[in-house]
Amino acid sequence: MDVTEGYLVAGVAGADTVETVWMPEGDEGEHGDGSEQDESKSRNRATICVSSQVGCAVNCQFCLTARLGLQRNLTAGEIAGQVIAVLDRHAVEVGRNRVNLVFMGMGEPFLNYDNFMAAVRLLVEEAGLSPQRMTVSTSGIVPGIERFAKEPKEIRPKLAISLNAPNDAVRSEVMPVNRKWPIKAVMDAVSGVKLRPRERVTFEYVLLGGVTDRPEQAREVARLVRRPGLPAKVNLIAWNPGPGIEYAMPSAEAVESFRQRLMGEGIAAYLRKPRGRDIYAACGQLKRTVESSALIESGSTPDQHRS
Ligand code: SF4
Repeated sequence: MDVTEGYLVAGVAGADTVETVWMPEGDEGEHGDGSEQDESKSRNRATICVSSQVGCAVNCQFCLTARLGLQRNLTAGEIAGQVIAVLDRHAVEVGRNRVNLVFMGMGEPFLNYDNFMAAVRLLVEEAGLSPQRMTVSTSGIVPGIERFAKEPKEIRPKLAISLNAPNDAVRSEVMPVNRKWPIKAVMDAVSGVKLRPRERVTFEYVLLGGVTDRPEQAREVARLVRRPGLPAKVNLIAWNPGPGIEYAMPSAEAVESFRQRLMGEGIAAYLRKPRGRDIYAACGQLKRTVESSALIESGSTPDQHRS
């Protein structure tokens, strides 16, 4: 089924919902770890984008979810339950079909740390999923990264940092959380994570037209992520327009030029296809969009939108 699907998944109380996204061809965020060898088998590259909170308190300026504010933390069962519900719907056999999980949906996982890691334990120990096929993305919550660095590698997912700016001045504008934990503090904490062989830290970088997509900024980004002993890659995401958010999309030329400049600096850089754009399910766009999603309940059918 070659379509991106967005779901609203009801919380235990049924009064609030979070969004979960199934991307049958992956989000191209995992290149470099071997999953691209399975490109002919779409299910083998499928990715599920999982939420960790209802809304979010972090207030990234380009993000629709931020508009909700934080409503509540999800429980471990609610976080893991999103995955189980989507695996069930697609009849995925864990162990035979390779599925990636990205904790990049609604919310900041490291501000709901205990429930997030308890969900990971459930998914690894009870559902049999591999932590090496899971990636958690944080906006740079330093105490959370420091705790994460102490997790045993048997259950620790891979780490992605939502960087999104070339320096502290721009990042503090785009992501106010940077005023509390600036880039150097984040990078120092990241350096404390003991990576597995061939594992890399991912830096997510949303390109905002005229704000973070300028050619000279690519060199700054390269300087930030190039650290001795820290294998890294950069995932570029062309910003997805959202109602009421005053940023501009970058041009296709600016996106490609940015990627080329990073590569020229020796940084592995990939462009993530925003497969969910047309259902507002791409990065930073998860917010209740009831009209275009459906509640996972027995008998209900999710809307499907070609991506
Ligand atoms: S991008 Fe992520 S951390 Fe930032 S406000 Fe949106 S959901 Fe929260």
